Amino acid sequence: MVIQEDYDLAVAAESFRSVFLEAIDLRGYYPYIDAISYCSKGYFFKKYNKESAMATLPHPLALIGVRGKASKILVFPGAFVPQFTLDDFLGCLLHHEGEHAKDFYENSANVINIFRKSIRRTRELKAYTNQMRRINQGIHSSAYVPSILERMNQALL
Ligand SMILES: [Zn+2]
Repeated sequence: MVIQEDYDLAVAAESFRSVFLEAIDLRGYYPYIDAISYCSKGYFFKKYNKESAMATLPHPLALIGVRGKASKILVFPGAFVPQFTLDDFLGCLLHHEGEHAKDFYENSANVINIFRKSIRRTRELKAYTNQMRRINQGIHSSAYVPSILERMNQALL
């Protein structure tokens, strides 16, 4: 389990981020997520970092229709936002990326079409809706909603 002070430390100190990510309680998303890794270099960093702060990598077998395979989640430096609270961060990690991981786990027969743009947009819309459903709980910062709306607009272009 992690607390707000852990998130603040991870924002301030890059060397703490891997430890922080390993300590996160995945709650109901536990079966769907195999690992959460900090990613600040390499192939996936180059591929995804510009367009998002986190990315869900489906298990290779999920891509050919095998169900019940957990995904890996990559977390890029841009996910550590000083204005964000721990709940904001977890909203992105669990209620957005976790929702993608759940989709890949349960519904992977459709995932063969992952690279088709319309399917990507549908998948993003589903994850953002899941994430936004929680904004009335009063746990998020004032920076969270504008930031999510901005990311949502980018993703649905
Ligand atoms: Zn997404």
